[in-house]
Amino acid sequence: MTEVNPNDLMSLCKRRGFIWPSFELYGGVAGMYDYGPLGCALRNNIVDMWRGIYKGREGFVEIDSETVNPREVLAASGHVENFADLITYCQKCGAPYRADHMVKGIFDNPDVLTPKQLEEAFVEHGIKCPACGGDLGPVDEFNLMFRTNIGPGSSRVGYLRPETAQGIFVNFANLYRYNREKLPLGVIQTGRSYRNEIAPRQGMIRMREFNQMEVELFVDPEDKDWVRFHEVEDGTLDLIPNTTLEPVTMTVGEAVEKGVIANRVLAYFVYTTKQLLTGLGIDSKRLRFREHEKDEMAHYAADCWDAEVLLSYGWTEIVGIADRGSWDLTRHAQFSGADLTHLKRFDEPREMEVEKVAAKHKALGPAFKSKAKAIAAAMESMSPSDIRDGRLKVSVDGEEIELTDDYFEVVKRVEKVAGIRVTPHVIEPSHGLDRIFYSVLEHAYDQKDDYTVLRLVPAVAPIKVGVFPLMEKDGLDKMAKEIYEKVHTHRVEAYYDGSGTIGKRYARMDEVGTPWCLTVDYQSLDDGTVTIRDRDTSDQRRIPASEAAAVIDSLLAGKEFSSI
Ligand code: AMP
Repeated sequence: MTEVNPNDLMSLCKRRGFIWPSFELYGGVAGMYDYGPLGCALRNNIVDMWRGIYKGREGFVEIDSETVNPREVLAASGHVENFADLITYCQKCGAPYRADHMVKGIFDNPDVLTPKQLEEAFVEHGIKCPACGGDLGPVDEFNLMFRTNIGPGSSRVGYLRPETAQGIFVNFANLYRYNREKLPLGVIQTGRSYRNEIAPRQGMIRMREFNQMEVELFVDPEDKDWVRFHEVEDGTLDLIPNTTLEPVTMTVGEAVEKGVIANRVLAYFVYTTKQLLTGLGIDSKRLRFREHEKDEMAHYAADCWDAEVLLSYGWTEIVGIADRGSWDLTRHAQFSGADLTHLKRFDEPREMEVEKVAAKHKALGPAFKSKAKAIAAAMESMSPSDIRDGRLKVSVDGEEIELTDDYFEVVKRVEKVAGIRVTPHVIEPSHGLDRIFYSVLEHAYDQKDDYTVLRLVPAVAPIKVGVFPLMEKDGLDKMAKEIYEKVHTHRVEAYYDGSGTIGKRYARMDEVGTPWCLTVDYQSLDDGTVTIRDRDTSDQRRIPASEAAAVIDSLLAGKEFSSI
């Protein structure tokens, strides 16, 4: 394992056309990067592998929704109110800082501190502006969303989406219809998200415009199993549960049985995430799943795990996998007034005792006066499965109200019903594509004595095969170009290179992770064979030039180089 200096890796990325700091011509903007030709190809390969799992294997559907969202959507999701980091400004030079970052190393979990606790910590620990030594000022909330106006004037406020997920939630009714009103319903979306990070740092880890691959799986709240669970139950996971905070390795089956991971479907997708990441070339020894600590976990989440990868920056979250309960659909149903439930149909209508949330009108009236009626209606539209810790949260006229069971009860009634309505629960594996991209590069980076090899797995390598004539003369170049034409397809990117010594050309391909190279030499003209070289072993073999495309295909399909 090579110790990676992120500056070396980023300079390789820049030099070879993976990643360029955006707007460099005008001095650049922190936290913004453009993908060059090799970066684009590598990123697309990552997305393809993700799609292969979720669309190909699991049968999920894909959508592509708008990046500019009206305020209502992000008010319902909670982002308008809560999507903020704490900021402090230097009182002397005016530099802005993320307040919790200023006390890292002093507190274990600085992001749970309140503004007041942070201000006190600055004084107590003598924390000053790192740039000029000035005093740090009051700590305030800074909403991370980029705000804009939709249309002329400022009457319709919009925001660039801070996550792709909301586009799936607001389309739930359409997607549910498309899926013939059945659950489970799995939906994926990849695209840009925007967060106006206070202090973008660590290269591609914290960007202001970034790419996500989000998966939302809508399930019956009473059925948190997964049909393929048995296929993965013996697979192992390196976990850090929030009960012990100690690393432990256990099988997927054990993790569910012991209650470490909340349910089978969540555990299945934690394991799917491991399959995806290791399939992309992330080292399984530098991959772990950390459960959110109790004070870190969203109040509505039943359970939440981060896939963390060990990078030169330390352990870094690259995917979050959460059981979000009914939060998202309940909120959008409340804010929009739409019915976002699933009807669990019976074969025939049945007389049955159903559990309902019933408002205690006598208690509500005096406590909430004119709002009591609306609160009662909102509560009664919810299901007992929405009750958390004995409380129900409703939203009335944009105001969020939390009700204890002084104001509602769960009652049983006999009714003739076609089925029961439930608000689906959401299992969400949310992938940070740029962080995955960077992690794949770091784990592939291998440097010895100034010679760099990116040991990318063939499936993600942007160029699959280099094609070289030994010399650009005597017809070697013509033959090499013909081979290039044959092997270069929309799936297999080939790269023709005729300049410099052959050693330099191999080095150039090794540096960008190209798994194989084909070289045409004088023997090729006599017997129609070419050498094929393997990046990782430097092994060389001769194969008929006419079979080059088929050999590359078989290697890409997983055939061992030693067996060709
Ligand atoms: P979150 O919604 O914060 O859980 O983010 C989902 C995923 O997006 C995370 O696991 C990260 O991998 C990624 N992500 C979040 N914020 C950023 C950012 N500023 N830059 C790059 N990736 C990010």
